Amino acid sequence: MSDLLVLKGSIAERVALIRQSLPAKVRLIAVTKQVSVTAMRQAYAAGIRDFGENRLQEARDKQGQLQDLTDVTWHFIGHVQRNKAKAVVESFHWIHAVDRLSLAQRLDQLAGVLETRPKVCLQVKLWSDSTKQGWSEADLRAALSQLYACQHLNLCGLMAILPLGLTSTEILSAFEQVSNLAAQIRHHENYPLPIHQLSMGMSGDFQAAVQAGSTMVRLGRILFGERSSL
Ligand SMILES: *Cc1c(COP(=O)(O)O)cnc(C)c1O
Repeated sequence: MSDLLVLKGSIAERVALIRQSLPAKVRLIAVTKQVSVTAMRQAYAAGIRDFGENRLQEARDKQGQLQDLTDVTWHFIGHVQRNKAKAVVESFHWIHAVDRLSLAQRLDQLAGVLETRPKVCLQVKLWSDSTKQGWSEADLRAALSQLYACQHLNLCGLMAILPLGLTSTEILSAFEQVSNLAAQIRHHENYPLPIHQLSMGMSGDFQAAVQAGSTMVRLGRILFGERSSL
């Protein structure tokens, strides 16, 4: 991404710079896919308490190696396959990319059995993007009553990943659409879900996301450098 701000310095310095630039109430999730546990410990030492991973096996290996960091909140930010749903509920506090009703209902059932109540964001896609999953506004509205019935889930957020190639005006407006949709759902006449969290903003677009009301930014490259293109 050409507009990616490349920060110099150590992980600790980058964490400090980004943290300073964010409003205090915005949660900084360090996206640590393909990042070593050594680098994760450096981020932890610099104050990071939220890690985001998108591959289950990689995440579980790292959780095993970082067991001594007991106050970390783990976020699953990847696509959840049905056969991995149970392991995701068992291993993560937050599930960010719930993109279909059947998955929400499956997670709800599992959370009931496992006696837990994961925090869940619904991944929305309010613009055309063939490379991404997500709820359209119409699909989400149509499913609200069934989502409302998912009592074992703490359905508290919307999550978005923007398509590539938008202008800065389009980026801001896309994030604002997500923010407006969350407000509409909070005030829904029959099914007012408490959607107070907005998981939006990555290294290339987090400033616009924050401007539009993001409460959680998911940052990888700007903290840890470019990933190999695996
Ligand atoms: C990889 C990833 C990120 C972080 O992206 P960067 O551009 O490295 O900041 C954020 N969200 C999701 C869902 C991701 O998969």
